[in-house]
Amino acid sequence: MTLDSAVRIIALAPDLLGTYGDAGNVTVLAQRLRWRGFPTEVVEGIGRDVPDSGDIYVLGGGEDGPQALAAREMIESGALPRAVERGAVIFGVCAGYQLLGCSFLDTDDNVHAGLGLLDCTTVRGTGPRNVGEVVANIGTLLPGHVLSGFENHGGVTTVGGGATPLATIVAGNGNGDGSHTEGAWSGRVVGTYLHGPVLARNPDLADLLLEWVVGPSAPLADADATAEALRAERIQAAGGSRRRA
Ligand code: GLN
Repeated sequence: MTLDSAVRIIALAPDLLGTYGDAGNVTVLAQRLRWRGFPTEVVEGIGRDVPDSGDIYVLGGGEDGPQALAAREMIESGALPRAVERGAVIFGVCAGYQLLGCSFLDTDDNVHAGLGLLDCTTVRGTGPRNVGEVVANIGTLLPGHVLSGFENHGGVTTVGGGATPLATIVAGNGNGDGSHTEGAWSGRVVGTYLHGPVLARNPDLADLLLEWVVGPSAPLADADATAEALRAERIQAAGGSRRRA
């Protein structure tokens, strides 16, 4: 991007994928840019009307029905594959992660096409819903970073060879397919099961997404002291969680 124009964050389908407080991820990205002096604009992408001008596209979690509708509308819009072609950043949480993949199932076992921007597929889990705190070690994307968040999903996701799992599970379930992994990424497309909002709990991950757009930036030590306290408390709270065998 040229830095004489505002960084454009597109909040995708907030009307359908807004159940779990993941709109906070957009707020975190925008605020971190503004603190660093970057002009920033947040635009909603509703229905098939998804702007082609975004630098970062953000999707949140949602219920099965709205998720299927959001996926259909995004496929019809075609804006996200074009955004990936341009090198824009795409960040999806839970339902937003699942619909970035190749396909997902709803509660009635209907198969829905995803956008195919991440090589992963989602089916219904056979066990209880995955609900609780998650701790996971991020791999190559942010080596050494411990991911903290909260999961609440029935879907189970398998990451294929064309994408890389985002993290390895320490507590909780994440992808839940027996691989003990959480989330997936490929290029500048990143998906995770974690709410929190996850970018408020993991400012390093927020900064990685921003770095892909504006380049490396100075840390925000004061703001991140609060996040660090929350992370520490949540990671400790997750100590009692046990991943499923
Ligand atoms: N409906 C999806 C599932 O349960 C996603 C849920 C969510 O976004 N939290 O797997």
